[in-house]
Amino acid sequence: SNIFFRPIEKINAVIESYPKGIAGFKRYTEIIDTEPDIADVPDAVELNNVKGNIRFEGVTFGYEPGRDILSQIDLNIQSGETIAFVGPSGAGKTTICSLLPRFYDVTGGRITVDGLDVRQIKLESLRKHIGIVQQDVFLFAGTIRENIAYGNLSATEEQIWEAARRASMEDLIRKLPDGMDTMIGERGVKLSGGQKQRLSIARMFLKNPPILILDEATSALDTETEAAIQQSLSELSQGRTTLVIAHRLSTIRNADRIVVVNEHGIAEQGSHRELVAAGGIYSRLHNVQTQHA
Ligand code: ATP
Repeated sequence: SNIFFRPIEKINAVIESYPKGIAGFKRYTEIIDTEPDIADVPDAVELNNVKGNIRFEGVTFGYEPGRDILSQIDLNIQSGETIAFVGPSGAGKTTICSLLPRFYDVTGGRITVDGLDVRQIKLESLRKHIGIVQQDVFLFAGTIRENIAYGNLSATEEQIWEAARRASMEDLIRKLPDGMDTMIGERGVKLSGGQKQRLSIARMFLKNPPILILDEATSALDTETEAAIQQSLSELSQGRTTLVIAHRLSTIRNADRIVVVNEHGIAEQGSHRELVAAGGIYSRLHNVQTQHA
């Protein structure tokens, strides 16, 4: 019954994005090299005016033939909904989320965005509409400004500051010797885990995708930083369909829906209140965690 306890060894930085992908597939470039079957079909379409309705219909997937990690998963995620996946390590939370941007293709069933099978959508268009915030921040040697604007080269100075402000980074940047022009990366100022998280959140405000995947950090941030980051993340998820890969129960209470995943698939789902009242797996985990808090 201690499956939800994780050592606090895991990182502190939330990270975004494709150069590294989400946890199970850390090197995007490696993936596109090794997964030649993920490619556009000849008549692939662009996504337009994305609402962000997502459906998993009878989704089956395994990394290796004969060993399914997911079997017959059905999920209907509404536009703007925040849905959090919880469950033991290895249950498949990350895997579920990685199928949406097609880091891997389903082996059975299908996933749709606004009714379109993701395999019918141009890969570039699909991924342009999905933002990923996760633990390892991809930073390059350059200024803070360049790192925030990453992926949105037409961003104005005002938009960059606005993104920084919404990611609770503004004060931090103003205190740096060269402000937005401060160099970060190997030869520049070293950012802490929490600062990197905020930078990746700022990037997402600029990217402004209708669909968001948050791979929650199991970090050892101080309470104040943690609260500021949670606040920014919650603001970021407003108006976007958001899939949260949750490692702690405490941060997902306000999700519209919590999906408990275990080795058999989706064990139960509902709001925090509903699941606590149901007295199932979630409610037991919740009791255990609150006793240890
Ligand atoms: P955690 O909370 O520890 O991140 P999770 O619920 O997100 O776990 P996944 O990372 O989706 O679980 O892993 C589900 C299963 O798939 C595990 O058995 C894992 O070992 C396996 N797995 C994950 N990534 C790969 C991969 N790239 N190749 C082969 N097997 C993988």
